[in-house]
Amino acid sequence: MKGQEKSEKILNIATKRGFFFPTAEIYGAKAGFWTYGHLGTLMKQKWENLWRCYFLGLSDDYWEIEGSSILPEKVFQSSGHLTHFHDPLVECKKCHQRFRADDLIEDELNVKTYGLDAEALDKLIRDNNLACLNCKAKDFDQVKWFNMMFQMQLGATKTEPVYLSPETAQNPYLSFKREFMALREQLPFGLAMIGKAFRNEISPRQGFFRLREFWQAELQIFFDPATINQCDEWRNVEKYKLLLSFSEKGKNGAVKEVSCEEANKKYQLSKLYVYHLAKIQQFYLEKLQIPKAKFRFRELSSDERAFYNKIHYDVELDCETLGGFKEVGGLHLRGSYDLEGHQKGSGEKLEILVDGKKILPHVLELSFGIDRNIWALLDIFFRAEKERDLLSLPAVVAPIQVAVFPLVNKDGLPEKAKEVYDLVHEHFYTLYDQKGSIGKMYRRVDEIGTPYMITLDYDSLKDNDVTVRDRDSMKQVRVKIKDLVSYLQKLF
Ligand code: ATP
Repeated sequence: MKGQEKSEKILNIATKRGFFFPTAEIYGAKAGFWTYGHLGTLMKQKWENLWRCYFLGLSDDYWEIEGSSILPEKVFQSSGHLTHFHDPLVECKKCHQRFRADDLIEDELNVKTYGLDAEALDKLIRDNNLACLNCKAKDFDQVKWFNMMFQMQLGATKTEPVYLSPETAQNPYLSFKREFMALREQLPFGLAMIGKAFRNEISPRQGFFRLREFWQAELQIFFDPATINQCDEWRNVEKYKLLLSFSEKGKNGAVKEVSCEEANKKYQLSKLYVYHLAKIQQFYLEKLQIPKAKFRFRELSSDERAFYNKIHYDVELDCETLGGFKEVGGLHLRGSYDLEGHQKGSGEKLEILVDGKKILPHVLELSFGIDRNIWALLDIFFRAEKERDLLSLPAVVAPIQVAVFPLVNKDGLPEKAKEVYDLVHEHFYTLYDQKGSIGKMYRRVDEIGTPYMITLDYDSLKDNDVTVRDRDSMKQVRVKIKDLVSYLQKLF
C-alpha cells in the first residue's frame, strides 16, 4: 500500500471513529488545528501516563509542573525566540499562497537548506525556476523571515504584548529558582511539563504531523556541568546498543549499533547524555514495542541544530505515510543558555551554590511532540489485511482494552453480556456493543485497536463461559466467567 493510501485510510478511521478530526470543521477548519475525539483523548492520556511513569520514574529527583501557556514578552526576549524563532516565508505573487521557502526547495530539489540565509534561498528558487504548488506560476516574492509565535494583547485599556508559548520548556526555566529551593537545593533535578505549544507554522501540511496548536511532553534536567560524565545507573546501560545515525559532512549515514560505552568513549558523548539516549530508546522499543528497524536517533549537524544546542539527536520513527523517518522528539544538551538568558533578562540571580562554588546549572532537555507520536503509532501499527483493517496497537496505548458482545441480540444473551461487561468494566477500559453481526462488531473494534474481544453465545448461558478473541492472531479461547478478570489481567 502506498503512503498516501495508507494515510487516507488512517485519517478515515481517525475522523470516523473519534480519534481526531479538524477543529471547527462546520465552519471550514483552519489548517493545523485538530480536536481529539473520545478515542484519541483516551489514547493520548495513555501515552502521557506511560511517558510520565517511565521518565519521571528514572530518578526520585524528576518532578512534573504545570505552567502557563501565555507568557510575557520579556520571557521570549531572553529566550531568543523573538529574534531567532522564525521560518523563511515565500509568497506566490499570483495566487498569494504562502510557503516555507526551505520546505519548498527541499521537496522540489531534494537538497538540504540548513543555515542558508534569505538571499541564498531566493537564489535557489529563481535559479531553479520553481513553481507555486498551488497555481503553478513561477513568480515568487522575496523570501522573508516570519516569526512563528502567536502574539496577543494583555489587558483591556493599557495593553501589553504577550505570547502563546511555542514550547513547554520555558516554564521549567522560569520555575527553576523556586523549585531548586523547594527541592532541597541539590542538583541534578528535573522538571517535566506536559502541555500545549503554539506555533504559527507557515504551511502546516502533513495532516496531523505539523500543527499550529499541539502537545509536548518535555523534561528539563538541571545539572552541574562538572558532573556531566557521572551517572549512577551507568552499569545498567553500558552494554546496551544505541541505534545512531551520525551526521557526517552534512549528511546522515546508515544506522550504526553503538554500545553506550562506545558512545561515551569513542564518540565522546557524556554519560549523562548517553544514559538518557538509552532510556529513550528503551521507551520506544520496549514500552511502545516499536520495531527496531523503525527507530533511530539522528544526529543534527551544527548547521541544523539551534545555536544554543551543543549536542542534538532527534528521535525519529519511520512513518510510511510521511515517506520515511520523521522527528517525533529530541535530546538536547542546551548548556547554560536558558538560565543565563533569563538571569540577564530578569535581573534575578539564578546562579546557585554547589559545594561552595557558584554555578549556573546546565540543562539536558528531553523533548517529545505528543501528537506526532500518536500519528506515528497509528502509522506503524496500522495493518490492512484481506478482510479487515486493524490497528495492532500495543495494549498500553490502545484506547479501549476489551470489548464485550452478545453473539445475537436476543434470548437473554444481551443481558448476560451486560453482566460480563459490568464485571470487566471495573478493571479495564471496556466497550459494549450489540449492533450488527458478530463479524461487523469484530471489524469495528479491530479498527480501533482493541486487543481482546469477549463474546457470549448460547453455551455461555449454560456453562458460564465466554470466548476471548485475540485481535492480532484472531485466535479464540474459552474462559470461565469467574476466571475472566484474572485471565485478562495476565494477558495485559
Ligand atoms: P520541526 O523541525 O519538525 O519543525 P522542531 O525541531 O522545530 O520541529 P522542537 O522545537 O525541537 O521541534 O520541538 C520538540 C518536539 O515538538 C518535536 O520533536 C516535535 O515532536 C514537536 N513539534 C514541533 N513542532 C511541531 C508542530 N508544528 N506540530 C506538531 N508537533 C511539533
